[in-house]
Amino acid sequence: MDNNNVAYKTKSALNQDGEQTNRLMLVLRTPPCEYNQCTMCGFDNNAGKNIRLQNIQRQYQNGIEGEDFSDIRRIDFPTAGSFYNDRELSPESRNYLFSEVSRLPVDSVMVETRVDYLTEEKVRESKSYLREDQSIELAIGLESADDNVRNKVLRKGLSKKSFERFADICRNTDSQLLAYVLIKSPTLSEAEAVEDAVQTADYVYRIANERGIKARVAFKPMFIPEGTELEEQYLNGEYQLPKLWTTVETVKRTAELASYQPNSIFVGMFDEDLSGDRFSSNCDECNSEVVETLKRFNGTQDLSELERLSCECKPEWEQFLGVRICTQE
Ligand SMILES: [Zn+2]
Repeated sequence: MDNNNVAYKTKSALNQDGEQTNRLMLVLRTPPCEYNQCTMCGFDNNAGKNIRLQNIQRQYQNGIEGEDFSDIRRIDFPTAGSFYNDRELSPESRNYLFSEVSRLPVDSVMVETRVDYLTEEKVRESKSYLREDQSIELAIGLESADDNVRNKVLRKGLSKKSFERFADICRNTDSQLLAYVLIKSPTLSEAEAVEDAVQTADYVYRIANERGIKARVAFKPMFIPEGTELEEQYLNGEYQLPKLWTTVETVKRTAELASYQPNSIFVGMFDEDLSGDRFSSNCDECNSEVVETLKRFNGTQDLSELERLSCECKPEWEQFLGVRICTQE
């Protein structure tokens, strides 16, 4: 099959309004991200050339073919760049997708975009194709609330003011907000990575609460995509991937902050097919158990299984982390 007609697809557990359900994710093959300056982004590897409406139609049809939607309440459409950049995804393609989604038994659809391309008008147009009982979740790569990490280290080109404008657009269009948060950007130690991610989640919840909107935080433990600046740093030993314990700790601490936004923590576990085998890990003994437990947490939002995780490698990580967290326990 022509590559331009195939979207990478995956299904994973999700908690929606307190209910354990699943999301279907179709990573749409679209032209490369026009911004393309982020130091850790590998979505270019998923990009296509000369993508037309017809290709988007086929990607979608191939993606949902044979899919049983009885246990799926959300569909996600990440792209190689920004869903609302007309030069990356045409208005016709967007409208096609939303009108198709209106025929699915899902409650919500998630799309990702840089704020520069987002307008209330575009969101309203999208919503006009959905059913009344369906909503849009607008996702943005905030990555870190630390200006230096976000804009110097990762080169996101995103001010806090712009993020807050994104949140305003969510409020004004009755959409939910999803913020991606990276775990362990370059220059951060494991302890600083926990701190950075928790502070970022705190900021997201605060901005959302001020506006009375629903928000979700999607943590992304760092992985190494091919052809990125991050890959160079990784290969020459300047960058080390985070331990999975760092993500477990981040989730536990974030859950304490999330009381105004229940069921709002998601951990992306390398399911966009971009990471190869260069992703966060602990040791061979516990890797798969910790990953599977984090995936189940996405559905249950129940910390107890995460609290019970242990392994011989954990004390080593705790030492690694330094005194700050150990003394709290
Ligand atoms: Zn282990």
